[in-house]
Amino acid sequence: MACTPTPFPSPRVPDPVPREMRNGAPVKRDGLEPAGVYRPRRRKTPQMRSPDYVQLSTAAAITLGLIPGQMHRCKCTGCLNLLITYPEGCRANCAYCGLARHREAKENYADRNFIRVDWPAAPLIEIIDRVSDMRGATAFQRMCISMITHPNSDRDAKTILENWMARIPREQIPVSILSNPTTMNRRDVRDLHDLGADIFTVALDACTPAIFEQTRGKGVDSPHSWNTYWSVLEFAREIFGVDRVGMHLIVGLGETDFDVLKICADLVNLGCHSHLFCFYPEHGSLMDQTPAPSRARWRRIQLARYLLEYTGHPFEALGFGGDGELLRFGMAEPQLTAIVNTGLPFRTSGCPGKERPDISACDRPYGDSPPSDIASYPFQPNGGDLRRIRRQLGGPPT
Ligand code: SF4
Repeated sequence: MACTPTPFPSPRVPDPVPREMRNGAPVKRDGLEPAGVYRPRRRKTPQMRSPDYVQLSTAAAITLGLIPGQMHRCKCTGCLNLLITYPEGCRANCAYCGLARHREAKENYADRNFIRVDWPAAPLIEIIDRVSDMRGATAFQRMCISMITHPNSDRDAKTILENWMARIPREQIPVSILSNPTTMNRRDVRDLHDLGADIFTVALDACTPAIFEQTRGKGVDSPHSWNTYWSVLEFAREIFGVDRVGMHLIVGLGETDFDVLKICADLVNLGCHSHLFCFYPEHGSLMDQTPAPSRARWRRIQLARYLLEYTGHPFEALGFGGDGELLRFGMAEPQLTAIVNTGLPFRTSGCPGKERPDISACDRPYGDSPPSDIASYPFQPNGGDLRRIRRQLGGPPT
C-alpha cells in the first residue's frame, strides 16, 4: 500500500491569488492557467480550484452540452453532480475511492476516475450560465454539491451554493449536499440549510464501525470517524427535517446483509433515507483487487431495502441466517412478485427527482457497474431487464 502520511487536519490552504468569482477578472496563478472545460488526461492538467472551478460527472457534462457523447440506454442524467476540486485533492485516503490520497504520486487529482467515470472540470460560472439559459427546460431534476476532505471545502461549498441560488430558483432545481462530516460542525450544516440546500446527505459508506475504521479510518491513515459521521447525520436530521436527509452505504466492503439492512431500517425510523451503492473495484484504489458482490446478493439487498423504505415492511419480518445472510423477505409471494415486477427496487437509489419519491434524480449512470452487467439501473428496467433481475434474485443468497 503506497500511502503518504499527511497530518490532519492540515492548515487552511490559502488561495494562491485572488479568485475569479470575487473580482470577475482572469487572474494569474501558479502552475498551468485553467482555460474553460478540462477533460481528464487530454492535455497537461491545469491548476483548477473551487469555487471558481468544479468537476462534474461525465453524464452531467454531456447533459449540459459541455462535452459530446451519449450514455447507453439513457438520456444521460437527471442530476447535475458537481464535485469540489483542488490541485492537492482530497486529503482522506478511503481504500475503495478513486479520489483517495494514495493515488497522488501517480495521477493529478483532476485526472482520476471516480465511481468508474471521468470527471471533467469547468468554470462554475459557465455551468450556472448554461443552466440559467435553459430557463427550466432542463433535464436536471436536482443539483448536488459533493464535498471532499479539504480544509477549504466547507467554505467553498457555501460559496458555490450561494452563487447557484442567486441565479437558479430552488423550485426549478433543488440542491443536495453530499457532505464531508470530518471537517464540519453543526453551524456548517445550519449554514448550508439557510443558504437554500434542500437535502443533506452523509456518505457513511461502511456499514460497521470495524469496516469503517479499516477502510476509511486509522487502518488506511485516513481521518474519518464513525461517531462523527453519525453526529453530523443527527444534526442534519434536526435542521433539515424528516425525509430531507440521506445516507450512502456501499454493499460489498465486508459487511453482512444484516449489517446493511439494519442501518436501512434504523434510517427509516429516524425519518432519513438510505442510498445504496454496489461496491465496484475502482481502478487505482487500494481495493481494486477486491471482487464486487454477486448480483444475487445485491438484488436481494436492493429489494429488501426498497420494502423497508417504501412499503412499510418491518425489519423484523426479514429472515437472516447465522452468518447474517438474508434468507427470507417475510412477505407473501404474490405481493413480493408485484413489487419486483415494478422494477423500481432495482433502479439507482438516491435523492428524489420530481416524478415520485422512490425514483431518484441522482441516477449515476454506470457508477457502480459496467453497462453489460448493470447493478443500479439508471432507467426503468424493461421486460428483458426484469427477466434477468428475476434470474439473479433466484440465485444463491451470497
Ligand atoms: S473522503 Fe470521499 S472523496 Fe475523499 S477519499 Fe474518502 S470517499 Fe474519496
